[in-house]
Amino acid sequence: MNSKTAVFPGSFDPFTKGHESIVMKSLQLFEKVTIAIGVNTSKNYYFDLDKRKLHIQSLFEGVGERINIVTYSKLTVDLCKEIGAQCIVRGLRNSTDFEYENSIAQMNQTLAGIETVFFTTESQYSPINATIVREIHKNKGDISPFVTNAHLLV
Ligand code: ADP
Repeated sequence: MNSKTAVFPGSFDPFTKGHESIVMKSLQLFEKVTIAIGVNTSKNYYFDLDKRKLHIQSLFEGVGERINIVTYSKLTVDLCKEIGAQCIVRGLRNSTDFEYENSIAQMNQTLAGIETVFFTTESQYSPINATIVREIHKNKGDISPFVTNAHLLV
Protein backbone atom coordinates (compact mmCIF):
# COMPACT_ATOMS: atom_id res chain seq x y z
CA MET A 1 0.00 0.00 0.00
CA ASN A 2 1.43 3.36 -1.01
CA SER A 3 0.06 5.88 1.46
CA LYS A 4 2.05 8.68 -0.09
CA THR A 5 0.06 9.32 -3.22
CA ALA A 6 -2.79 11.80 -3.24
CA VAL A 7 -5.32 12.85 -5.83
CA PHE A 8 -6.25 16.53 -6.13
CA PRO A 9 -9.51 16.52 -8.12
CA GLY A 10 -11.34 19.51 -9.54
CA SER A 11 -12.76 21.20 -12.60
CA PHE A 12 -9.84 23.63 -12.67
CA ASP A 13 -11.73 25.87 -15.10
CA PRO A 14 -9.22 27.52 -14.82
CA PHE A 15 -6.44 26.36 -12.45
CA THR A 16 -5.82 29.38 -10.21
CA LYS A 17 -3.06 30.53 -7.89
CA GLY A 18 -5.21 29.13 -5.07
CA HIS A 19 -5.12 25.64 -6.62
CA GLU A 20 -1.40 26.03 -7.24
CA SER A 21 -0.78 26.76 -3.59
CA ILE A 22 -2.78 23.67 -2.52
CA VAL A 23 -0.60 21.50 -4.77
CA MET A 24 2.60 22.97 -3.32
CA LYS A 25 1.34 22.25 0.20
CA SER A 26 0.38 18.70 -0.81
CA LEU A 27 3.90 18.05 -2.08
CA GLN A 28 5.18 18.67 1.44
CA LEU A 29 3.06 15.82 2.74
CA PHE A 30 2.78 13.38 -0.15
CA GLU A 31 5.42 11.80 -2.33
CA LYS A 32 3.24 12.03 -5.43
CA VAL A 33 0.26 14.19 -6.32
CA THR A 34 -2.07 13.45 -9.21
CA ILE A 35 -3.96 16.51 -10.36
CA ALA A 36 -7.17 15.07 -11.77
CA ILE A 37 -9.30 17.22 -14.07
CA GLY A 38 -12.87 15.96 -13.80
CA VAL A 39 -14.82 15.73 -17.03
CA ASN A 40 -18.58 15.62 -16.58
CA THR A 41 -20.26 15.22 -19.97
CA SER A 42 -23.39 17.03 -18.80
CA LYS A 43 -21.40 20.10 -17.72
CA ASN A 44 -20.20 22.89 -19.98
CA TYR A 45 -16.71 24.15 -19.31
CA TYR A 46 -15.40 27.59 -20.24
CA PHE A 47 -11.76 26.84 -21.00
CA ASP A 48 -10.91 24.05 -23.42
CA LEU A 49 -9.88 20.80 -21.66
CA ASP A 50 -6.60 20.39 -23.57
CA LYS A 51 -5.64 23.98 -22.82
CA ARG A 52 -6.46 23.51 -19.14
CA LYS A 53 -4.24 20.43 -19.05
CA LEU A 54 -1.33 22.11 -20.89
CA HIS A 55 -1.67 25.14 -18.64
CA ILE A 56 -1.41 22.98 -15.49
CA GLN A 57 1.56 21.10 -16.99
CA SER A 58 3.36 24.41 -17.54
CA LEU A 59 2.99 25.30 -13.86
CA PHE A 60 4.68 22.17 -12.54
CA GLU A 61 7.28 21.49 -15.23
CA GLY A 62 10.06 21.93 -12.67
CA VAL A 63 8.61 19.44 -10.20
CA GLY A 64 9.13 16.39 -12.40
CA GLU A 65 7.65 12.97 -11.72
CA ARG A 66 6.11 13.81 -8.38
CA ILE A 67 3.24 15.50 -10.23
CA ASN A 68 0.98 13.72 -12.65
CA ILE A 69 -1.90 15.38 -14.50
CA VAL A 70 -4.84 13.31 -15.73
CA THR A 71 -8.37 13.82 -16.95
CA TYR A 72 -11.09 11.48 -15.70
CA SER A 73 -14.81 10.88 -15.94
CA LYS A 74 -15.66 8.46 -13.14
CA LEU A 75 -16.02 8.57 -9.38
CA THR A 76 -12.98 10.19 -7.77
CA VAL A 77 -12.70 7.24 -5.34
CA ASP A 78 -12.52 4.85 -8.31
CA LEU A 79 -9.69 6.91 -9.79
CA CYS A 80 -7.91 6.75 -6.42
CA LYS A 81 -8.20 2.96 -6.34
CA GLU A 82 -7.02 2.67 -9.93
CA ILE A 83 -3.82 4.62 -9.28
CA GLY A 84 -3.24 3.36 -5.73
CA ALA A 85 -3.90 6.66 -3.95
CA GLN A 86 -5.28 6.54 -0.39
CA CYS A 87 -6.10 10.21 -0.07
CA ILE A 88 -7.98 12.94 -1.80
CA VAL A 89 -6.72 16.50 -1.32
CA ARG A 90 -9.08 19.47 -1.32
CA GLY A 91 -8.69 23.15 -0.51
CA LEU A 92 -10.73 25.16 1.97
CA ARG A 93 -11.26 28.89 1.60
CA ASN A 94 -14.11 29.47 4.00
CA SER A 95 -16.97 27.85 5.91
CA THR A 96 -19.06 27.46 2.75
CA ASP A 97 -16.30 25.32 1.23
CA PHE A 98 -16.15 23.35 4.47
CA GLU A 99 -19.88 22.50 4.53
CA TYR A 100 -19.78 21.22 0.96
CA GLU A 101 -16.41 19.49 1.17
CA ASN A 102 -17.21 17.79 4.47
CA SER A 103 -20.24 16.02 2.97
CA ILE A 104 -18.31 14.81 -0.06
CA ALA A 105 -15.42 13.66 2.16
CA GLN A 106 -17.71 11.68 4.45
CA MET A 107 -19.51 10.08 1.52
CA ASN A 108 -16.19 9.08 -0.06
CA GLN A 109 -15.16 7.60 3.27
CA THR A 110 -18.34 5.52 3.36
CA LEU A 111 -18.16 4.57 -0.30
CA ALA A 112 -14.56 3.47 -0.45
CA GLY A 113 -12.65 4.14 2.78
CA ILE A 114 -10.77 6.95 1.06
CA GLU A 115 -9.80 9.82 3.37
CA THR A 116 -9.73 13.48 2.40
CA VAL A 117 -6.97 15.82 3.55
CA PHE A 118 -7.84 19.51 3.60
CA PHE A 119 -5.45 22.38 3.24
CA THR A 120 -6.51 25.87 4.14
CA THR A 121 -5.58 28.46 1.60
CA GLU A 122 -3.27 31.37 2.24
CA SER A 123 -5.12 34.61 2.92
CA GLN A 124 -4.03 36.28 -0.31
CA TYR A 125 -5.55 33.41 -2.31
CA SER A 126 -8.76 32.82 -0.39
CA PRO A 127 -10.83 35.30 -2.45
CA ILE A 128 -9.82 33.62 -5.71
CA ASN A 129 -12.78 31.87 -7.22
CA ALA A 130 -12.73 30.19 -10.66
CA THR A 131 -16.28 31.36 -11.45
CA ILE A 132 -15.29 34.99 -10.94
CA VAL A 133 -12.06 34.48 -12.89
CA ARG A 134 -14.17 33.20 -15.83
CA GLU A 135 -16.46 36.24 -15.55
CA ILE A 136 -13.44 38.57 -15.68
CA HIS A 137 -12.08 36.70 -18.71
CA LYS A 138 -15.45 36.76 -20.52
CA ASN A 139 -15.53 40.51 -20.08
CA LYS A 140 -11.99 40.94 -21.40
CA GLY A 141 -10.46 41.68 -18.01
CA ASP A 142 -6.97 40.67 -16.94
CA ILE A 143 -6.93 37.35 -15.07
CA SER A 144 -3.16 37.27 -14.59
CA PRO A 145 -3.32 38.42 -10.92
CA PHE A 146 -5.23 35.20 -10.18
CA VAL A 147 -3.80 32.69 -12.66
CA THR A 148 -0.08 32.02 -13.32
CA ASN A 149 0.80 31.69 -17.04
CA ALA A 150 -2.69 32.96 -17.92
CA HIS A 151 -1.56 33.61 -21.52
CA LEU A 152 -1.54 29.83 -22.11
CA LEU A 153 -5.32 29.70 -21.69
CA VAL A 154 -6.13 32.14 -24.49
P1 ADP B 1 -14.76 21.58 -8.10
O1 ADP B 1 -15.58 21.86 -9.32
O2 ADP B 1 -14.47 20.13 -7.88
O3 ADP B 1 -15.21 22.27 -6.84
P2 ADP B 1 -12.64 23.50 -8.35
O4 ADP B 1 -11.68 23.53 -9.50
O5 ADP B 1 -13.56 24.65 -8.21
O6 ADP B 1 -13.35 22.12 -8.50
O7 ADP B 1 -11.86 23.37 -6.98
C1 ADP B 1 -11.04 22.26 -6.68
C2 ADP B 1 -10.62 22.35 -5.23
O8 ADP B 1 -9.84 23.52 -5.02
C3 ADP B 1 -11.76 22.45 -4.21
O9 ADP B 1 -11.39 21.74 -3.05
C4 ADP B 1 -11.84 23.92 -3.89
O10 ADP B 1 -12.35 24.14 -2.59
C5 ADP B 1 -10.36 24.29 -3.96
N1 ADP B 1 -10.14 25.70 -4.26
C6 ADP B 1 -10.76 26.45 -5.18
N2 ADP B 1 -10.28 27.71 -5.16
C7 ADP B 1 -9.34 27.75 -4.19
C8 ADP B 1 -8.49 28.78 -3.66
N3 ADP B 1 -8.54 30.04 -4.10
N4 ADP B 1 -7.65 28.45 -2.66
C9 ADP B 1 -7.63 27.19 -2.20
N5 ADP B 1 -8.40 26.18 -2.63
C10 ADP B 1 -9.25 26.45 -3.62
